[in-house]
Amino acid sequence: MLQIDLISIFPDYLTPLNLSLLGKAQERSLIKIAIHDLRDQTKDVHHSVDDTPYGGGAGMVMSPEPWGKAIDAITNEKDQVDLIILTPAGKRFNQQMAMEFSKKSHLIFACGRYEGIDARVGQYYAGKNNFKVHEVSIGDYVLGGGEVAAMVIIEASTRLIPGVLGNPESLKEESHSISSDDLILVEYPNYTKPANWRGIDVPEVLLSGNHGQIAKWRLEQAERRTNQLKQE
Ligand code: SAM
Repeated sequence: MLQIDLISIFPDYLTPLNLSLLGKAQERSLIKIAIHDLRDQTKDVHHSVDDTPYGGGAGMVMSPEPWGKAIDAITNEKDQVDLIILTPAGKRFNQQMAMEFSKKSHLIFACGRYEGIDARVGQYYAGKNNFKVHEVSIGDYVLGGGEVAAMVIIEASTRLIPGVLGNPESLKEESHSISSDDLILVEYPNYTKPANWRGIDVPEVLLSGNHGQIAKWRLEQAERRTNQLKQE
């Protein structure tokens, strides 16, 4: 079972994690999700989790100690932990990373806010034998916080865990998966009934029943779409 912990100052933001496939995967004990409020680790009346940046500049930086306490509270020395720090300055998330995370036993997501988390948090846990630290971005843009980014990563990673998807066949031939020829392609276009919709026909080959021709057409379409994306 994959244990997933999320730490945030907006735990309510993460409630969609209990819906749909992820909700069912928790009911079936394939994954376990726990959401933690970073402010629970503060003692002052204002429950402050941020301070002004050393070196000056705009905005506030998240202080390291509440993060350290929150992470220590949910781990022990025997635990093999992958700590994912969400940041637009991290490595870009992709399907290969989703596959890597889906095979882990304990993921912790640190959802930043303000100008981000004091850099020593990642540095400290990277120095611990039982931790692997990943700084991850979900794309080249800046969000207000890491919660949505964490949900993107969790949804993409957990659906790859055997048993989470109702039909595991859906994972075959998906966009961004490596094909038998070591190629990474996006998927071919999909169609369902009716065969003619608002004057537009479904490509004839898909109605032919000829599986060889259909497979050939789909591969060509996947290559065409992939090449088109590269040119844009
Ligand atoms: N000052 C930071 C910078 O320029 O790199 C941006 C901080 S952002 C306003 C606040 C938080 O949102 C970050 O700490 C991170 O957790 C999250 N975040 C923003 N954009 C993200 C992205 N593209 N991928 C992952 N997390 C992101």
